[in-house]
Amino acid sequence: MQRLAILGATGSIGRQTLQLVDEFPQEFEVIGLTTRGNIEILQQQIFKYKPEFAVVVDEEKAGLLSSRLNNTGTEILAGEQSLEALVTDSSVDLVVNGLVGFSGFKPTLTAVKNDKKIALANKEALVAGGELITAEAEKRNLPLLPIDSEHSAIFQCFHAGERREVKKLILTASGGPFKDFTEEELKNVTPAQALKHPTWKMGAKITVDSATLMNKGFEIIEAHWLFKVDYDLIEVVIHPQSIVHSMVEFIDSSIIAQMGNPDMFLPIQYALSYPERWQSSLPSFDFNSTYNLQFFPPSFELFPCLDFAYQAGRTGGTMPAVLSAADEVAVEKFLQGSIYFPDIPKILESVMGRHSLKINPGLNDIIDADNWAREEVERVLS
Ligand code: MG
Repeated sequence: MQRLAILGATGSIGRQTLQLVDEFPQEFEVIGLTTRGNIEILQQQIFKYKPEFAVVVDEEKAGLLSSRLNNTGTEILAGEQSLEALVTDSSVDLVVNGLVGFSGFKPTLTAVKNDKKIALANKEALVAGGELITAEAEKRNLPLLPIDSEHSAIFQCFHAGERREVKKLILTASGGPFKDFTEEELKNVTPAQALKHPTWKMGAKITVDSATLMNKGFEIIEAHWLFKVDYDLIEVVIHPQSIVHSMVEFIDSSIIAQMGNPDMFLPIQYALSYPERWQSSLPSFDFNSTYNLQFFPPSFELFPCLDFAYQAGRTGGTMPAVLSAADEVAVEKFLQGSIYFPDIPKILESVMGRHSLKINPGLNDIIDADNWAREEVERVLS
């Protein structure tokens, strides 16, 4: 039985992880659940799963929840620092990180330093601090189990050969809702349009990142750290149907692909069942309906965020943290309607251009770079 802490329990990844717990109750015990501020859903989850701890990052809402719950046996903790208290608790074996953005970085690093296995959906943790996190994980021989569907695919494709036989990684991208748009059409897209992802159901931030292809860019950096593959050997291909979740080409030019319906439940289950495979309730892929699987190269001109990721990744140091932080703020501003869609890459480019790079960054350097980039977005806009 694995004892779970689920960070971001009320979000899309967290709720699906709890579905998996429902399907395999004999495999898991829920020790801790966290939310930023969604106490309505968290309260239902507390009644159902009776965790030892529940963390509410928003302190006011934590107080509100505490006042509602009496004698449930669940201790309510408040504030960002409580995430770290939870992941270091001796009763936790496996941390599922479904947090959004940079908020997932410190809890991930802390969990790894405390010998916890991690199932990671929060790619920004690896984008900002991949060097630190993977170094700590390697020291302890701890697996970082990818929940991101592309990385789960690559992780599975790796079973087909030896590491030294890998020639390159091929990340597939749906291309998002705007893959066929012209530059002119991109100027006027609305948040509502950006939030309509053609194949995947996900949270708001990652859905907008999918529309700019920044998400795919972050996945390049994530793949670099998870699989220790050079940036020159990580390729992106647009595959609108999202059936092939990613591929690995081996040195004999054989390409192994992992396929399935686009459903995050599968990578979540594989991360949590690994190294086993469990019977799934998901329907089989239906080969009775006709499918055209298409593959074509991405447009770096229309979607410059992809290129920014390669640049930031190759530059290394604090640059990926800066890209990630600037993007988090830019996406928020786009969702609020205060900037246009094409402003997102413009902001990222100018913030990256103004950054004084720090190489071999420690924890505080990364936090400083993140703060600096957030403030710099405001300066760029004013
Ligand atoms: Mg993905």
